[in-house]
Amino acid sequence: MAPRFLLALAICKLIITVGLNGEPTELLQLCVGGGRLSMERVDVESASLDFGMMSRAEPLAVYHPSSADDVARLVRAAYESSRGFAVSARGHGHSINGQAQAAGGVVLKMSGAGPAAQSRPAPRVAAEERYVDAWGGELWIDVLRSTLERGLAPKSWTDYLYLSVGGTLSNGGISGQAFNHGPQISNVYELDVVTGKGDIVTCSEEKNSQLFHAVLGGLGQFGIITRARIALEPAPQRVRWIRVLYSNFSSFTRDQEYLTSLHGEPASKKFDYVEGFVIVDEGLINNWRSSFFSPRNPVKISSLGTDGGVLYCLEVTKNYDESKADTVDQEVEYLLKDLDFIPTSVFTTDIPYVDFLDRVHKAESKLRAKNLWDVPHPWLNLFVPRSRIADFDRGVFKGILGDKASGPILIYPMNKNKWDQRSSVVTPEEDVFYLVALLRSATVDGSGDASRRLEHLADQNRRILKFCGDEGIEVKQYLPHYSTREEWAGHFGDDKWARFYQNKMEFDPKQILSTGQRIFKPDFGFYPNDAVSS
Ligand code: FAD
Repeated sequence: MAPRFLLALAICKLIITVGLNGEPTELLQLCVGGGRLSMERVDVESASLDFGMMSRAEPLAVYHPSSADDVARLVRAAYESSRGFAVSARGHGHSINGQAQAAGGVVLKMSGAGPAAQSRPAPRVAAEERYVDAWGGELWIDVLRSTLERGLAPKSWTDYLYLSVGGTLSNGGISGQAFNHGPQISNVYELDVVTGKGDIVTCSEEKNSQLFHAVLGGLGQFGIITRARIALEPAPQRVRWIRVLYSNFSSFTRDQEYLTSLHGEPASKKFDYVEGFVIVDEGLINNWRSSFFSPRNPVKISSLGTDGGVLYCLEVTKNYDESKADTVDQEVEYLLKDLDFIPTSVFTTDIPYVDFLDRVHKAESKLRAKNLWDVPHPWLNLFVPRSRIADFDRGVFKGILGDKASGPILIYPMNKNKWDQRSSVVTPEEDVFYLVALLRSATVDGSGDASRRLEHLADQNRRILKFCGDEGIEVKQYLPHYSTREEWAGHFGDDKWARFYQNKMEFDPKQILSTGQRIFKPDFGFYPNDAVSS
């Protein structure tokens, strides 16, 4: 069918089903400037699912914008329509629980290729001022490629780079650099945002600061990020990447906390990245997140002389330029010398900086080749207060999980003072808190090992949350997922919830945006209303 005919069909259906105001000719404006409204099955189908593969919600149409003006036109059409309809920005769709879906509305496809994408602004690097202006749907891998051409790179990362700028800034964006630079949302100077009224607003600390802080970590609730100005630093050439093992949890966390407390020290006296993971079964030391150990030479836990219990792996890196290669060994040695790991368990490798940042993509390729990437992912990400991390270890790593992890389990501490409390993101009260990320994959059809079935893993997640509740461990979910208004209010806490609610009423009063987060219950139909109690 001719694209023009499909477009007319899409618009008629929108007029009838969601009560769009205006003449069809006005609505054709949605397609001026290169934007494309699509009701093609392939578009609708892919926008109905996400990486989690656990929830499905069909939009009526998918809109491919070519510019911020296109985004504004669509949102304004939704805002001004008599009944309203949902508009959810979708970056790379790597959410777990349908957060980028728009049941019965329009998914705004900010990332990806296609004719509309060709007109989107490419990343623009200001080398002297050390920032890059990136389109909200740009993937971080492409931001990196552009900045490296000028010898620069963003400071704060996620472990995986095939995520969009707008998608991670709507949550936080964390990795092993966060102890030092804060999350990605702490490394943004300015944003262009299309609010829920369809206005394009430039905001920063100085200008429209309420919107700026609301949008960062704002779960897509207050506006659609069309441009982000991201802080840069000189890109190092290489990375010395070190892993050491612990059988004692308190030694492990003491050392992690020591290393992350060095954030104020000069670069030569601290690591650039501090993470860690938990190993509850032998296979996990060579897991899919681990491009580190050679598959031809897998690490055998039994060879390390531990008593077979849970192990913890501290993972650190030191960035350097080839001209400084002779001092990097000394710097690493200096930092490792007071740590209390198993002496025979030091594993070191050395790779280009880009390969380190893009490490998870390698693992993705391997899993894709085995058809193990597009499977359900019942992931659970928690921020755990430092004072209760040992209780969490006892109850979860050494308790609920049994001896099967079914995927990587990351654990590393961060410093709260690197998080701007004015942003919308929620963290525990304490100065130091841990990310615990249970990144598990389930079998597709419920077959095979019972410990990998979706119901089993989902049930374990519920038990973990219940355990924390019963024990009074005040965890906060990262990439949060709740189904009732009460749970959301509890997640934010009284003050932050009041601010979040007020910002919603101000910037998206018709509650059009990111309905897939299920925080607010819009008045219009086509929404899974049972999920959110008013
Ligand atoms: P989507 O899933 O497309 O969208 C997420 C939410 O953001 C939705 O509510 C959507 O409406 C909203 N949104 C999307 N674009 C915009 C925009 N331009 N403006 C406003 N709102 C928008 N997170 C980390 O912090 N650290 C990690 O190391 C990390 N590793 C990951 C590894 C993998 C393999 C996966 C699948 C996820 C990982 N994540 C990590 C989580 C990831 O950061 C979030 O799920 C993020 O939202 C995904 O980005 P996306 O572009 O796919 O967003």
